[in-house]
Amino acid sequence: MATWTLVLRCYGCAARFTLPHLNFDTVTSLPLVAPCPYCGGRPVIRAKGDDGESRMHKVLDLRYDRGREPVSVGPQVRRH
Ligand SMILES: [Zn+2]
Repeated sequence: MATWTLVLRCYGCAARFTLPHLNFDTVTSLPLVAPCPYCGGRPVIRAKGDDGESRMHKVLDLRYDRGREPVSVGPQVRRH
C-alpha cells in the first residue's frame, strides 16, 4: 500500500520532526492534530469568527514512499 512521509517544523520550538509511513487520510489530517515530540505543542485550529490565533506546524516536506502503485499527487488540473 502506498504511504507518505511528512516532515514538519514545530510552530512552538521550531524542532523538525518526521512522520513516516502515513496513509493518505492520515497525511492530510495529521498536521492539524499531531503533537510535537520535543515540546508537546499541539496545533490549535480556531473556527472562523473565533478571535484566537491558529497555530500549526509548518509542512517542510511531503514525500511519496514509492511502492508498486503509480505516483499520483492530488488533482493536477486547475479549473477557473
Ligand atoms: Zn515543539
